[in-house]
Amino acid sequence: MPRVTEPPEPLPIPVFDNHTHLDISRDGEPLDVPAALAAAAAVGVTRVMQIGCDLEAAALTVDLVDRHPEVLGGVALHPNEAPRLADSGRLPTAYETIEAYAVHPRVRVVGETGLDFFRTGPEGRGAQEESFRWHIDLAKRLGKVLQVHDRDAHDDVLRVLEDEGAPDHVVLHCFSGDAAMARECVDRGYHLSFAGPITFKNNRDLRDALAVTPLDRVLVETDAPYLTPHPFRGASNAPAMLPYTVRAAAAVLGVSVPELCQQVNGTGERLYGAW
Ligand SMILES: [Zn+2]
Repeated sequence: MPRVTEPPEPLPIPVFDNHTHLDISRDGEPLDVPAALAAAAAVGVTRVMQIGCDLEAAALTVDLVDRHPEVLGGVALHPNEAPRLADSGRLPTAYETIEAYAVHPRVRVVGETGLDFFRTGPEGRGAQEESFRWHIDLAKRLGKVLQVHDRDAHDDVLRVLEDEGAPDHVVLHCFSGDAAMARECVDRGYHLSFAGPITFKNNRDLRDALAVTPLDRVLVETDAPYLTPHPFRGASNAPAMLPYTVRAAAAVLGVSVPELCQQVNGTGERLYGAW
């Protein structure tokens, strides 16, 4: 695995990471959360949305938001987790547990939930869609923001959201659609959160999607420890790597970095409230 050799240049205006997993480490060692948050703050990433998307990670998320004022949280059962729980008959009790965590006042997100046709085969898709529908309903009942995971399932994600009736605030995390899909999402009032892949050379379609997204619908995220931006693609990702994605996004949108940071912060307050 390549290593990150130096931190990015600090951002001129502090911004937040809209989606990260402080509970997941890729090198086998548990992540040193205070150190990761300090490294992020040192480059202007002063707040993070911690996403816990299995039962254990959701418990850890509630613990982190209680202990760190710079951390807000989201909880859910990941689309690849739901079929496993359904298979073993544990899905109903897992729903109860997630709902109990989701009422926490510093848990502002239900997510990530959605559809993943890359990792879940046809046999798991019924449970996956049922779980997605349950999470949509939960976000509506609790008045939380829905963060959606969509992997190779664009049409079905849009179909289920439409059919079930979307919550007031929907964010497509790690947006991976093209410009046409971005326009459709914007028309529906959704927000699009862009991650490291916008910095990858061959992702022209994704940059085109970002380019047609209005500035006040754009969010930025790391999805750490995955999807490390260029020039450290393949290394373990962290919230401190967000500046690479922010600078790339500003260039695509044709705005200054401070302007993008300000917009993203405003959108964050509107969606999630104060940190
Ligand atoms: Zn994620």
